[in-house]
Amino acid sequence: MTKPHNISYNWIKRNEISRCNLCLKRDKLTWDHIPPKDGGVQSKVIIESLFSNRTGKQTSEGQIESQNGFKIRSICKKYNNTWLGKYYDPTLNEFARHVSNILQSKLLRPEVLEIPTKPNRLIRAVIGHLVASKIKYDRCTSDHLFRRCFFDMDSPILEDVNVFFWIHPHSETIIIRDTVMPRRRGDFLQNMLCHVLKYYPVGFLVTTADSYEGLSSLTKFRNSEPDEINSLRISIKNRRPSDWPERVDNGNFVMGGYALSRSTIAKPKTTKQ
Ligand SMILES: [Zn+2]
Repeated sequence: MTKPHNISYNWIKRNEISRCNLCLKRDKLTWDHIPPKDGGVQSKVIIESLFSNRTGKQTSEGQIESQNGFKIRSICKKYNNTWLGKYYDPTLNEFARHVSNILQSKLLRPEVLEIPTKPNRLIRAVIGHLVASKIKYDRCTSDHLFRRCFFDMDSPILEDVNVFFWIHPHSETIIIRDTVMPRRRGDFLQNMLCHVLKYYPVGFLVTTADSYEGLSSLTKFRNSEPDEINSLRISIKNRRPSDWPERVDNGNFVMGGYALSRSTIAKPKTTKQ
């Protein structure tokens, strides 16, 4: 990656009438927000290519500004407002708020939090936003599997879909799709296909691997009923840097195609910028 990835509004804004990433029908498209509405602070952000950001090649021409957090116009109103907005996002938002409240509390915190939630809906919220996060609708295998999981909350999450989570106490929102990384850091013989969605205060990794770096699994509840409540254990002691797990170092690489090249970071806009 030697050239900066200049981005413009077509990075996040598809034609108003186009094919919906979720239901694949042509319709009027609406904005998907990450974090979802009511799920976090939707402040002024600067959006740019993750690769330009990480290689230090970002330019002001390669950045776009959003008044209300990261957003992308990619899904129809029905699936935005009803499926994500009513069925799944309330669970994701409540989970994020719960973690955030504990992190910001001045009271003594345990090293491992136990957060009650509905894993069935939480998993589908994460998957839905990952599908929505592509500027081009995609019929690739991952998106096909994700759509099958998304639309059928009465069936278990498919075996090839594993979701892990960790504390992301950083202000950057980062979305990475369709990348290959080593299954274990430092071991380049076995790799995994994965996707990352992270924003304050939680990160999610969706992958073909059945474990990753000791992270807590969300899909151990893959058979749970839509309204079944389980406690998720999440360590606040082992904090990861903002660029984890995708950081390229002696033990890790990232490899991918178009979707990876469109990976995005949104940072709060400060008065200096
Ligand atoms: Zn749709």
